[in-house]
Amino acid sequence: MADPLDWIDQALDQLSKSGLMRSLSTRSTPQSPSRFELNQRPLLNFGSNDYLGFASENLLEAVRASIDRYGWGSGASPLLGGRSEDHAALESETARFEGTESALVFPSGFAANVGCIASLVSKGDVVFSDAHNHASIIDGCRLSRARVVVYAHNDMSELKRHLREAGSGTRRLIVTDSLFSMHGDVAPLADLADIASRYQAMLMVDEAHATGVFGQRGRGLCERAGVAEGGLIRVGTYSKALGSHGGFVAGQARLIRWLVNRARPYFFSTAAPSAVAAASRAALQLVDRQPHRRQTLLENAERLRETLRERGWNIGNSTSQIIPVIVGDDQAAMRVSERLSKGGVFVPGIRPPTVPIGQALVRVSLSYGHSDEQIDRLLQTLGGPDD
Ligand SMILES: *Cc1c(COP(=O)(O)O)cnc(C)c1O
Repeated sequence: MADPLDWIDQALDQLSKSGLMRSLSTRSTPQSPSRFELNQRPLLNFGSNDYLGFASENLLEAVRASIDRYGWGSGASPLLGGRSEDHAALESETARFEGTESALVFPSGFAANVGCIASLVSKGDVVFSDAHNHASIIDGCRLSRARVVVYAHNDMSELKRHLREAGSGTRRLIVTDSLFSMHGDVAPLADLADIASRYQAMLMVDEAHATGVFGQRGRGLCERAGVAEGGLIRVGTYSKALGSHGGFVAGQARLIRWLVNRARPYFFSTAAPSAVAAASRAALQLVDRQPHRRQTLLENAERLRETLRERGWNIGNSTSQIIPVIVGDDQAAMRVSERLSKGGVFVPGIRPPTVPIGQALVRVSLSYGHSDEQIDRLLQTLGGPDD
């Protein structure tokens, strides 16, 4: 008899034939630049979002202290006893860090985006979303049941046209990544803030890859662009540069009170272990105490981008530690990634649907922990576009 799941075989076959089958790899070491093994192979790691090098060691003392005090599992929703003193302290410290009235800690950055967007707009409202936004923003828009208007990547005149056409009378939300996760380019935040205020729209900025890295004080690209004003809704994650885990929304106190009541991914999910919040608290302190990490990282990233350009690689509009080496064809991008891997260097290949068709790339993520020698080895192994 046919099994109702038989269709999956065909669907997987199809993926495999189009060269888009993904498979899991297994890491047997900490997330570190050079002490890194994937599928039992030692590799030089240029695939990590641990941009400041906090993930493997720096947060452990805080984790141990929290486990001693609160144990491991949190055992309940944050509304029903799962939220510990560490979570509460992390929320007020995140608000202070972001310069906002208040903040709320979510199980992940994904949950923060989905929960926040779906709480801000609903049926009858309109969301304006950049074409390169992260999947969690896209899913939040869908879940909200608001009308979703996708504007061309960073195209402010198209955004304005859509805002004019949408008319007034409904809630409007503009949502964008600040640092785009696949191409390492940035949103025009000052223009977006202007437009949002001119058209009376809410503005939500996802700083997932920028928190801890950009801005004089490491607060992200909103800080650098000088748009950290009151109405802004900021989303971030503790899971990338901060080397910990979990997501947050920061903004006005009334926004956070609303999310506590409405954001289903917040209160229908068990609070993360206290120790996770403790690690995030320690990471925020390190961003304040060790500015040289972000400074060195950004200097190294600038040099690497220059060298790649000189060698004829297309790195798009990257101005950050995320450097796409754009190859174009899917299979060709996977071949570049395999060549690197054979040479002992891990740089993940990224293909559709994560990037548009014909724009497959290998994505170099630079971290504070990479030495000049390691960056040279990446360049040598990568070679030139015609190798
Ligand atoms: C990674 C990412 C998220 C999700 O954050 P997690 O904490 O990993 O769930 C959200 N937005 C953007 C832009 C991201 O790159």
